[in-house]
Amino acid sequence: MSVKALRSTFGDRCHWCGLAMDFAEPHGRPESATIEHLNDATLGSVRTQKHRRLAHGACNQARNAFRMDAERAFAAWVAERVADAAAAQDR
Ligand SMILES: [Zn+2]
Repeated sequence: MSVKALRSTFGDRCHWCGLAMDFAEPHGRPESATIEHLNDATLGSVRTQKHRRLAHGACNQARNAFRMDAERAFAAWVAERVADAAAAQDR
């Protein structure tokens, strides 16, 4: 599904913030419309068209950055949990 098709299906507003997006050239600006893939690895990681929405470049980028931060924080938490379990076994 192209940006044009998504726009006619879902409208001119960002999936995340609900504010209007910029559909004028050039692409790649923070307020430009980008295609957001909503399906996560946790949902099976199969990319299908029905999970595509339009979002600002800025919102898309921020979402990815926050998700990467969350992944790192979770990995650190798991490592700490494993280290704690190992320390408890040594006692
Ligand atoms: Zn937005």
